Amino acid sequence: KEELNIIQGALELRSKTVEDVLTPLNDCFMLASDAILDFYTMSDVMQSGYTRIPVFENERSNIVDILFVKDLAFVDPDDCTSLKTITQFYKHPLHCVFNDTKLDAMLEQFKKGKSHLAIVQRVNNEGEGDPFYEVMGIVTLEDVIEEIIKSE
Ligand code: ATP
Ligand code: ATP
Repeated sequence: KEELNIIQGALELRSKTVEDVLTPLNDCFMLASDAILDFYTMSDVMQSGYTRIPVFENERSNIVDILFVKDLAFVDPDDCTSLKTITQFYKHPLHCVFNDTKLDAMLEQFKKGKSHLAIVQRVNNEGEGDPFYEVMGIVTLEDVIEEIIKSE
């Protein structure tokens, strides 16, 4: 029964973590912070279909901003505006969480905050050097809801 699946999904929010549902960094559509908002970049963004686009500096694991597609409303591709101009104007806060955040806690954060996308980090203490934060991917409200209503 569909209702039982939903209850089951809701109960599993307590045991599952954001790591179980995130979109891996490699699959994320992102923009480099030095991008120019010309026709090609803007069509890429539109064709991606995503509403929230992480912006990285130098390497994809270094997310420094989030671009909302609606931020582009006043951008004319012919002006070749730099992405930095836009991100520095809107300055959307980054919402970061750790990989072991339970989905019920994540849902609570999404309900409270204005953000519906979070960047998932883990502490990497493998290898010789000091432990460091490593970005694993992104999680959105949709990923959590999906976990509740998925039918198996
Ligand atoms: P909205 O539905 O609010 O317009 P959206 O369609 O851009 O947003 P979501 O509905 O939040 O995105 O998420 C749908 C799926 O896409 C989720 O699995 C999420 O992790 C993934 N996702 C969201 N943004 C990106 C992105 N920039 N690159 C890759 N995957 C993304
Ligand atoms: P997003 O969060 O993906 O940027 P949004 O903020 O425009 O989208 P939603 O988050 O989907 O909108 O909805 C937030 C609330 O605003 C919902 O209650 C929705 O019904 C309402 N809403 C959305 N669009 C409109 C609109 N054009 N006029 C009035 N209310 C709207």
